Amino acid sequence: ARVRRAHGKRLPQYMERGNDVKFSDVAGLGNIRLELEEIVKFFTLAEMYRRRGVKIPGGILLCGPPGVGKTLLAKAVAGEAGVNFFSISASQFVEIYVGVGASRVRALYQEARDNAPSVVFIDEIDAVGRERGLIKGSGGQERDATLNQLLVCLDGFEGRGDVITIAATNRPDILDPALVRPGRFDRKIYIPKPSLTGRIEILKVHAQKKPMADDVDYMAVASMTEGMVGAELANIIEIAAINMMREGRSEITTDDLLQAAQIEERGMLDKKDRSLEMWKRLALNEAAMAVVAVNFPDMKNIEFVTIAPRAGRELGYVRAKMDQMRFEKGMLTRQSLLDHITVQIAPRAADEIWYGEDQLSTVWAETADNARSAARSFVLGGLSEKYYGLSEFWVADRINDIDLEALAVLNKCYERAKEILQRNRELMDALIDELVQKKSLSKQEFSCMVEEKGHLEPTPQSI
Ligand code: ADP
Repeated sequence: ARVRRAHGKRLPQYMERGNDVKFSDVAGLGNIRLELEEIVKFFTLAEMYRRRGVKIPGGILLCGPPGVGKTLLAKAVAGEAGVNFFSISASQFVEIYVGVGASRVRALYQEARDNAPSVVFIDEIDAVGRERGLIKGSGGQERDATLNQLLVCLDGFEGRGDVITIAATNRPDILDPALVRPGRFDRKIYIPKPSLTGRIEILKVHAQKKPMADDVDYMAVASMTEGMVGAELANIIEIAAINMMREGRSEITTDDLLQAAQIEERGMLDKKDRSLEMWKRLALNEAAMAVVAVNFPDMKNIEFVTIAPRAGRELGYVRAKMDQMRFEKGMLTRQSLLDHITVQIAPRAADEIWYGEDQLSTVWAETADNARSAARSFVLGGLSEKYYGLSEFWVADRINDIDLEALAVLNKCYERAKEILQRNRELMDALIDELVQKKSLSKQEFSCMVEEKGHLEPTPQSI
């Protein structure tokens, strides 16, 4: 529910309200903090910097493994400077459809500018910022369009000091050189995993908000958490607190922490240990997308279907290749956009068919979100019957109508997904079984099953 409304006007959807993170919440970083304190000055002393001709960077790149506190630092910069904080994960920019990613970038920066001064935080920038030659195939063009838009937005703010972009990545080495050119993300700050003393400091920061015993031995906990990052250390404190509550005590002890550290460490190894129920839900999710996609000309090329755990990604994915020709022309038809929405909403439809409305899970939340924003783009792009040809500018004051029409489009696609899934129950059940057993299906395995058990749309219908 990112879109909220007040008096019929749209509130910024990427803005984080009530951000009060301060540098004192970030621990164990030594001198790195000084570098970030300088960024705060770019805001607070912008006028002075400008007068003296000091160039204010448009972008800062925070590099380091997940969980070391990159997001936290970016928030602290905004919090200390007292400016607005906007954030998005670049993986949200990466859409199959040309133009969707770029328009999200534009919307993000539009909001940031309207609410300046502000910090824009882009997590996982490598998802769009990968060196162009490195991506082959159809996803590449979309990413290029998104990347280009990002470059344009970055250049627009260069040296002004009212919107500063902070991006995070674990792979600065693969970024497109255009992104790290002077004037863009020309300042790189490396954030390593915390040292022994760093871990002690981080544990202590998180302990501040908890009832700790006076004699807690932080050194002991820090010693046995070699290699862990801030996010894991914060989690240890949480687990210890739960243990304390469970045993009806009022203080967290060293023992609670040591036990919690073991649980956290084991948990990291066990992440792959999902329950059978969870595997089935995931399989249903992915199978639904694959089965619906295979009906559509632009998406019938399913490369693999998987629910295998992947680093940094909770759910598996289906990769459907888009029609190469269309991509080369940088253009898609109205129908293929509708097909896309139908595929993205399919997991939700499947959950309803297989488990019933009162047993719905949230496995489909991410793709449903994609479907919703694609439906909106569809209407805003003037593709819906009701608003054929109307441009975004014309309808800016009719935002409720747009949302209603997007909902109508979404519902149409939903019904279509349901219809396809119901017709293919046998295929779906077989796919779910296979996926739960094998975790991944190759292109061949998938198409064999479709051939054997599938009921595809004879001629692709248009809606
Ligand atoms: P990243 O963006 O590098 O993946 P995050 O900033 O999202 O990491 O960290 C997740 C959570 O872990 C933070 O909200 C905070 O609670 C904790 N954390 C991580 N690093 C630190 C740190 N250096 N000091 C204090 N807490 C930290």
